[in-house]
Amino acid sequence: MARDLYWSLLSLNHRGQQSHGFAVLNAEGISRSVGLGPLPEVPPEIPDGEIGIGHARYATSGGSSAEELIRDAQPVVVGGPGRRMALAYNGNVANAMELRRSLEASGALISTGSDAELIALELLRGLEASGLRSAMSRLSTRVDGAYSLVGIIDDGTVFAARDPNGIRPLFTFESGPLFIAASETVAFDMYGVGPAVPVEPGELVVASEDGVHHHRYAPPRPEHICSFEYAYFARPDSILGGRYVYEVRRELGRRLAARHAGVARRVDSVVPVPETAVDAAYGFHEVSGKPVETLVFKHRFVRARAFMSGGGERQGLISRKYNVSKRAAGRRIALMDDSIVRGDTLRHLISALRSVGASEVHVFSTFPKISHPCFYGVDMATYGELIGYNRSPNEVAASIGADSVNYQDLDDFLEVVGRSACVACVTGQYPTEKAALLAAAALR
Ligand code: 5GP
Ligand code: SF4
Repeated sequence: MARDLYWSLLSLNHRGQQSHGFAVLNAEGISRSVGLGPLPEVPPEIPDGEIGIGHARYATSGGSSAEELIRDAQPVVVGGPGRRMALAYNGNVANAMELRRSLEASGALISTGSDAELIALELLRGLEASGLRSAMSRLSTRVDGAYSLVGIIDDGTVFAARDPNGIRPLFTFESGPLFIAASETVAFDMYGVGPAVPVEPGELVVASEDGVHHHRYAPPRPEHICSFEYAYFARPDSILGGRYVYEVRRELGRRLAARHAGVARRVDSVVPVPETAVDAAYGFHEVSGKPVETLVFKHRFVRARAFMSGGGERQGLISRKYNVSKRAAGRRIALMDDSIVRGDTLRHLISALRSVGASEVHVFSTFPKISHPCFYGVDMATYGELIGYNRSPNEVAASIGADSVNYQDLDDFLEVVGRSACVACVTGQYPTEKAALLAAAALR
């Protein structure tokens, strides 16, 4: 089991590279092992057992020093001799401060800086008072935000649950004694099993000696899946909303070429920023007829994602991570990226392309203009860091040195990713109450 856990987590390593970890239940109880950075190429020592969970972390809470990252690595293990639980989660708690204070006031000992422990402690409280379903229901009234959870309880139970808005993805597969839960369908491909079934918003799936049971712990609501999953986070070979993510990206590229046909006609070729924008560039080509050219290269072994590191380090990383080809000289380029958050990546690439002689650089973003922060697990939590906030596309173009910036039209985007998807970072309409309050407070 330990090996399977390693390989399936490896298939999800693109979701987070700051730390990784495993928790396994065996005769000795729950044991945990964590490490810094992405999963190592040589599988680490993972205790064997019948049940295990793993996590690859992309931090949106807690500290960023090596010590803090190890301290905050997931899975977290909470509880004492009576009952212990290991929990791993994807998402972000919008009211983390409030939750932390209330837990501390009631005597809880919090030992990490991450939201995962807060969720785990809350859940454990509920669990001690009643069953897992009521514990999840109680949790959903106290936690505002996005959370897809997997956990193990030391009585031999394993569970998976998704927040009532379904902001982060989560899938399960069950067959006889085999039960698997994971954020993306590629993890199931690793085992050669499927189809992976989406956990519904507000659904709890519990696997124990009595078999697998599905419960609804919160009233059904439309799924507000994070639309950034389609543009950026998920692997292209994952299936989300019933479609391969690469198909969605391709369609986003087609839409861009159709919506901004004038600029599309003007350019000589479309150049994707590797790797997330490659599928969209092919879609752009289908509609515009313009060739896809590889003029921006990503160093394969510079693995950290630029936005995952802080300030100065980030700039250095961006310039080490990409290289541009001198073949860009004299070319009018449509530079395709999945999204524009701070604009640092594009500013760097545009300047590099111009320095080798590109004559025009028109940016195309598969994601609409991001002008609001995210409180649900994408690390862009302030207005100040967003280049799209309070700037028109022309002003964004001026700031990053582009000849034009062509964003995905919101209506086109929603037609492709689905009308109920979360686009709060575009519209400022947050699917949960406390995130909306946080955004309003951030503006004041
Ligand atoms: P930039 O901030 O330089 O505009 O974006 C850097 C790249 O990281 C873009 O390709 C963007 O899609 C990607 N990205 C993905 N997730 C995030 C995130 O949470 N924050 C930021 N800033 N960029 C992200
Ligand atoms: Fe995703 Fe944006 Fe919603 Fe955050 S605000 S969950 S990034 S769509």
